[in-house]
Amino acid sequence: MSTNEGIAVDTAPADEDAPESGPTFADLGIDDRVLAAIADVGYESPSPIQAATIPPLLSGADVVGLAQTGTGKTAAFAIPILMNLDTSQKKPSALVLAPTRELAIQVAEAFGKYSSHIPGLHVLPIYGGQSYGVQLSGLRRGAHVVVGTPGRVIDHLEKGTLDLSELKYLVLDEADEMLKMGFQEDVERILRDTPDDKQVALFSATMPGAIRKISKQYLNDPIEITVKSKSQTATNITQRYVQVSHHRKLDALTRVLEVEDFEAMIIFVRTKQATEELAEKLRSRGFSAAAINGDIAQNQRERTIGQLKSGALDILVATDVAARGLDVDRISHVVNYDIPHDTESYVHRIGRTGRAGRSGQALLFVAPRERHLLKSIERATRHPLIEMQLPSVEDVNATRASKFGDSITENLASDNIALFRKLIEDYEAEHNTPLADIAAALAVGGYDGDNFFMSAEPEPAPRRERDRDRDRDRDRDRDRAPRRYDDEGDRGRSFSRAADGQELATYRISVGKRHRVVPGAIVGAIANEGGLRRSDFGHISIRPDYSLVELPANLSNETLEALRRTRISGVLIQLQPDSGPPSQRLASRAPRREPGQGRRPERRQPRS
Ligand code: AMP
Repeated sequence: MSTNEGIAVDTAPADEDAPESGPTFADLGIDDRVLAAIADVGYESPSPIQAATIPPLLSGADVVGLAQTGTGKTAAFAIPILMNLDTSQKKPSALVLAPTRELAIQVAEAFGKYSSHIPGLHVLPIYGGQSYGVQLSGLRRGAHVVVGTPGRVIDHLEKGTLDLSELKYLVLDEADEMLKMGFQEDVERILRDTPDDKQVALFSATMPGAIRKISKQYLNDPIEITVKSKSQTATNITQRYVQVSHHRKLDALTRVLEVEDFEAMIIFVRTKQATEELAEKLRSRGFSAAAINGDIAQNQRERTIGQLKSGALDILVATDVAARGLDVDRISHVVNYDIPHDTESYVHRIGRTGRAGRSGQALLFVAPRERHLLKSIERATRHPLIEMQLPSVEDVNATRASKFGDSITENLASDNIALFRKLIEDYEAEHNTPLADIAAALAVGGYDGDNFFMSAEPEPAPRRERDRDRDRDRDRDRDRAPRRYDDEGDRGRSFSRAADGQELATYRISVGKRHRVVPGAIVGAIANEGGLRRSDFGHISIRPDYSLVELPANLSNETLEALRRTRISGVLIQLQPDSGPPSQRLASRAPRREPGQGRRPERRQPRS
């Protein structure tokens, strides 16, 4: 196969403040069925990676995309694949390889969303840790798109239960992560053993030598797409960020709205639906808010912006498209409620404040998993954002009390004060009631006393949202998990708790230096087959004939059984709780339990 240097696509607009005029989804040549699905999920316009990647993929070219999670890369590869699938074909036409089962599930769900108007299309996630039965029946029924982790895909290939002889599209998602997890051999094998004329798309956040080599060796003249960010932000805008998980965003926004002194505010969200939903939630909390998005008729949009200009409206909830070119001097604050996909959008968004020589405030909500997007914004704008602490319940309540006082002061200047003073004096005389009691009774009529002060604990998120958030946070931990490896067992530095604080125990596996194992291969195999996350791993020590691995102490019997049967470099790892002499064990700083000893320790250790 021939290779070339590829083409770098620069999507940065020349003039940052000019209204962006990027392509629409229809401009990219997307067919009606997929356009309808995109409209259902509420995306207004393609993200830069989508605008740059979809046309070459539709033309049949191989693509290497430098893109991270959060940029919209899943739709960038899923949309062209979905448009060209032949649903009468029984064998899989598309295979997406993903490093973890969470990502595999997420990508399969995304395919499901974007194909909601394509009847009869089947997408199947296959990953380690799930029983083969479900996957086998899915494969037998016929899946057009298979999304899998490399280890499990290889297993199915070896068992003869997955037939890739008709494969037309292969996507390597988060390729650098797959390599870090020790899947290089598996990935290369899949690239080699699938039809030569397949189209390949490789996405990676970084481009280490090994990925470049894979791309040279297995891709055909790939077009390389890098979303470059050349952006500058104005110095009269103070830029801050708040770290807040997804389910707390509304609470966080409400606190900001209560405590920050703002004149007018524009709040950016990603989808049209989100503009309407958030504006409605704010209105029901007593704020003057309206939504604008690409679906709103021009005259309505102009009316709303007119209200914002005149002060009849204070808060606008908008998508990027709807806010293009918006120029309203009163906007003192921009809130990025949903973090933008790319730096150009960020620069354009925050440029809606600080107009006409005024100063402006920009605030960015960053969920734990989105920190890399914050970092790329800071890198591209060469401007570090200041971390802001969310206003506390006390701050909110102090503001409420002081606003209550302000309203008294304001009303004392009213023309009607004489009228009401007379009525109150009459009441006082007749009922012999102290004036403070009468004033308080009047306030009861005007305010909701039960909810006047914010209670200490915010409302818990609905369960499903909490679970989603916990998953996102766990993924964050996975990304940040402190992992240290050694070759000879540096006993003084071992871990006894995983990144998320869970208790770890030491397990022994029957592969070591002699088998040329590397930590990445151990993490990859165990995570894949045991359904574990990287944050579940503690210390790994590779000895000449075996290795010691710290894993959660409460692994279920089912997981233990799956891990006993797992192979690394063809060798059965026979994972078992380590019972070697103390000198062979990984040292521990905290008391530990025996592995597999139930879910909860009797007494919880304080988290460090
Ligand atoms: P990804 O990088 O593929 O994980 O996507 C990150 C998030 O962006 C997901 O929540 C997608 O649903 C969302 N998303 C993808 N494309 C768009 C788009 N064009 N407009 C708005 N949101 C999008």
